[in-house]
Amino acid sequence: MPSWELIITGCGTSHGNPPIGYPAEWSQDPRDQRRRSGAILLGPEGRVVLIDTGPDLLHQLRDPDRSWDGTSYPRHCITRCDGVLLTHDHADHSHGLNDLRHLNRLMGMATIPIYGNDLHLEALVRMFPYCFGFGEEVYRTYLPTLRTIGVRDGEPFAVAGLEVVACALSHGVAGRTTGFRCGGMAYLTDLKTLPPESETQLGGLDLLVLDMLREQPHDTHLCWAEALEVIARLRPRRTVLTHMGHEVRYRAWESRMPPGVVMAYDGMRLTFTA
Ligand SMILES: [Zn+2]
Ligand SMILES: [Zn+2]
Repeated sequence: MPSWELIITGCGTSHGNPPIGYPAEWSQDPRDQRRRSGAILLGPEGRVVLIDTGPDLLHQLRDPDRSWDGTSYPRHCITRCDGVLLTHDHADHSHGLNDLRHLNRLMGMATIPIYGNDLHLEALVRMFPYCFGFGEEVYRTYLPTLRTIGVRDGEPFAVAGLEVVACALSHGVAGRTTGFRCGGMAYLTDLKTLPPESETQLGGLDLLVLDMLREQPHDTHLCWAEALEVIARLRPRRTVLTHMGHEVRYRAWESRMPPGVVMAYDGMRLTFTA
């Protein structure tokens, strides 16, 4: 059973935290400075799998654990990508796609596969046709070189030797998203409800990364009470909350966490068995 590492490279909601234009809601706590949500999985022999490619991707690749001093060469930067697991096509999860082009070049122009549900992959190709070999060819050597691989819910597939199972999540009025289970870990973001057929795929987890937007209910995301309900149903050993709004201030909220549940912060590292 190989051991993989998960880095939460961003745990903020769609606009990033804290939001500009609200000086009264600013926070001095570095744990409240959250990039758009995403994660990096690090495997044996330097293998790298990304979960989502949000608008902060460049910063997440340059400084995944937020330990960079801002001037010297960043020691932990990511220079390779063996595949991307796409939860859905919303801008806060996909609009950093263009930044994969630098990794293509660092990998000798190797194509990077993007795994996800066909609905989301088709939307990605519509939004970024030039990344998939369509449209303008004049500057081809400077463009990302990507390909899509559709996956079916509940059917295992392998990315860089990591076995992954996709499961359908309901994003409320925003449609469906995809959660990913990799061995003892599952990453479930942007969900309002967990469909029963997916719940059966998520038993016996060691580590659950789960959407939790804020205290008040929301049309498309789990609020605090709903997240606790999902945790009570799935009973994972550890849970990490992500995709949090600026209202969820780390210092004020940490004492509310029940045993086995913690808030993410950008740069958090966790290990799991694949
Ligand atoms: Zn989102
Ligand atoms: Zn979304």
